[in-house]
Order: sequence, then C-alpha cells, then structure tokens
Amino acid sequence: MVIARTLRQLDRFRARARGPVGFVPTMGDLHEGHLSLLRRCRRENGAAVLSVFVNPIQFDRRDDFQKYHRDEKRDFALARREGVDCVWAPSAEEMYPAGFQTEARVRELSKPLCGTRRPGHFDGVATVVLKLFNQVRPDRAYFGMKDYQQFRIIERMVRDLDLRVKIVPCPIVREADGLAMSSRNRRLDSDERRRAARIRFALQSAGEMLESRQRSSKGELSRKFRDALAPERGDRVEYFEAVDPQTLQPRQPLKRPVLLAAAVWIGGTRLIDNLLLP
Ligand code: AMP
Repeated sequence: MVIARTLRQLDRFRARARGPVGFVPTMGDLHEGHLSLLRRCRRENGAAVLSVFVNPIQFDRRDDFQKYHRDEKRDFALARREGVDCVWAPSAEEMYPAGFQTEARVRELSKPLCGTRRPGHFDGVATVVLKLFNQVRPDRAYFGMKDYQQFRIIERMVRDLDLRVKIVPCPIVREADGLAMSSRNRRLDSDERRRAARIRFALQSAGEMLESRQRSSKGELSRKFRDALAPERGDRVEYFEAVDPQTLQPRQPLKRPVLLAAAVWIGGTRLIDNLLLP
C-alpha cells in the first residue's frame, strides 16, 4: 500500500494504477461506515484510493476542527487490511499552499438543512472534493448517504462541471441499536450514547406517521419526531425537516418520495441522520 503525502507521490501511484480507479474521500478516524465504502470501492475497481484529510475550510467552528479525532496509524492499518492500494494523506499546506483563494460553490443545494446553520461548510466540502477529484482522477467515487446533502451537492457539482467521475451513493451503516456510525460518536458518554440511539427511532416514528395517514401536517410530523426523541437536559433539535430528496426543498404536500433529515445536539455533540422514503 502506497502512502502518498505529496502530489508527486500521488502522481507516481496514479501513473502505474491499472483498471478503473475507485476513490473514497474521508476525514479519517475510520469506522465500519467508511469500511463499507472501501469494500465496495475495492470490489468494483482495479485500484482503490482512500484519502484521509481533515479539511480545515469546511469547519465553521474552530474547536470542532481541533477536537476532530485523528489517528493515522490506526487508519492506515485498517486501510491496509481492507486492501487499499493508495492512501492520499496530504498536509494542510500541501492542499492549501499560501495564496490559495479559489472556491467551488453549489448554490441552491448548499442553502437548506445543514447549510442554514453551518455557513460556508458546503463550499469548503465542494472545494476540497473538487481538488481531490483533480488530484486522484478517479473513475468512481463513493459517498455515504449519512451525509445525504453532501452527496447531492457533489453529484450536482459533477454534472454542472462535467467532471468525469461516477458518484456512487452507499447506504448508512448503523450500530446495533440504530445509531448511525460517525466519528463524532466517540465524544458521547454512556448516557449520551443511549439518548443518541433515539434519533433513528424518532425518524422512523415520523416516517411511520407519514405513511399511515392520508395527510399529516409539518407541525404534526415535527411533534412526532420530538416526542419520540424525548430530548433530555442539554439536548436540542437543531432541525427536523421533510424535504424533496432531489432538490432538498420542503416537501409539499407531505408524501413520498421524501427525505426526513435531522440534526440533533446530544449534550455538546452535534449528530445528523436521515431516513429516505423513496
Ligand atoms: P467523513 O470521514 O465523516 O467525512 O466521511 C467520509 C465518507 O464516509 C462520507 O462519504 C460519509 O458519508 C461516509 N460515512 C460516514 N459515516 C457513514 C455511515 N455511518 N454509513 C455510511 N457512510 C458513512
């Protein structure tokens, strides 16, 4: 397995790679969610590239960037075990040399849901993913539906800019109790961890309500979500929304296909999850 730290090293790997190249971009701290993407990537391509880069320009809060858990040694060992051919792990200076000032923005899809509360976040994501695509030049790239809005934004960017890469969405991998796997889960203490599992339950409860009734209002749906979540002291629903899975605009009337998406603070940790009713 090649560990590339500079563009030169990556180019050397890329020149030798045989068959279609698959790519899984991550911020490291790998868990089963990432590994499921990697396995599929390996299965469907001649060579598999994993990137590990905690992207400073997509964090709207400095403390969140600093707190982000990093463990390269463990990530590289897992990547090796999964048969990854190349890990692309550039430094922030390699990615953003002095004078860097260009941005990619997917205007409308970046506004709702997480975009409202995290200004600039998706511009940072689109910019780094565009750079990563240009650096790695993959034939296919794998994204988790856990970050559903991110997936739609990247898909749109690829179409709008004629990027020659196929975006492959992958299902959400969950813990046994339903909590969507996330690098942020490690910040939860045992009581918070218990509360966090109710996010998935609350999404399902709202989903069942939507399916069982001819017509439910947005208010009723939100109440159902909140009641099932039963937030405790220090927990807060940042948003819960029922949106069109393509445009991410509020779904009116409330019927399939619909994406139920939520961001919830459990104590000091912000978690997102969603339920797609196709
Ligand atoms: P991250 O390291 O959080 O930036 O995530 C890297 C990629 O892994 C993104 O495409 C995520 O959507 C995906 N991912 C993260 N968690 C999960 C999960 N629980 N299930 C499936 N994919 C995931």
